[in-house]
Amino acid sequence: MPSLRSFDKLTAPRMEPVADGVWLMRGGLPLRTMNVYFLEEPDGGVTLFDAGIEEMTGWIAEAGERMGGIKRVVLGHGHPDHRGGAPGLGVPVLCHPAERSDAEGDGGQHYFDYSRLEWRAARFALPRFMARWDGGPVRVEGTVSEGDEVCGFRVIELPGHAPGLIALWREEDRLALTSDAFYTLDPQTTRYGGPRVAHPAFTQDEARAGEHAQAGRARARDRLAGAREPAHERRPRPARAGRNGVTAADGTLRGGAGARAGHAPRVPACGAPRPAGVS
Ligand SMILES: [Zn+2]
Repeated sequence: MPSLRSFDKLTAPRMEPVADGVWLMRGGLPLRTMNVYFLEEPDGGVTLFDAGIEEMTGWIAEAGERMGGIKRVVLGHGHPDHRGGAPGLGVPVLCHPAERSDAEGDGGQHYFDYSRLEWRAARFALPRFMARWDGGPVRVEGTVSEGDEVCGFRVIELPGHAPGLIALWREEDRLALTSDAFYTLDPQTTRYGGPRVAHPAFTQDEARAGEHAQAGRARARDRLAGAREPAHERRPRPARAGRNGVTAADGTLRGGAGARAGHAPRVPACGAPRPAGVS
């Protein structure tokens, strides 16, 4: 009979390096399909992209602490399984303006249509899982839009799955963090496959979501680090001056403890300590 401690080890989230300055925490029972990206800030600490589910909150906080502290959370979108850990972290939360009301409200569940799930067991189970995953409404302290910079990435708007869904794109090593713009996991069977449009049961505008998925498949294929299965490319990132925090397209910094208006620190390398792993 496995002890509670060994069970805890089996289910603990895992941290893995994705690319220069980018770490992925995979967590959630039973298959660790919930992803949180840790983006190293040039002067220490991390910005999170998406916040996983509520039960990951303690693990996220611990990993963030080891990496110099969590400066802010930027939500790819506000669904319960992406905002879940955010309320318990006590750090500023940012999202796209079109996502604000859902992130501060029901997490977009007012347009979820569980009757569109093909499997009866999924129609029964997923609303219950969704309630369990959700950490509840967040207080959004700022917003990010197309062209803004987040920790060296550019914000790209991909509305469809959610009205304010954003991806982060880093040109230097062509790394995209795409939240739920694509699924590679079937939420009913939990089987992985190629990038595809998110399931319509959880999608606000199916047609727009489909357009992005089609364009993304053609353009990016295996270069996308999707929220439900990362297919990372580990091409080394060229040396560059780092940018800290969230920078608006007009060059001003905003959002989070490390952001100072009108000041964009430029340092040669990311200095955050490497996490030794969470489990
Ligand atoms: Zn979603």
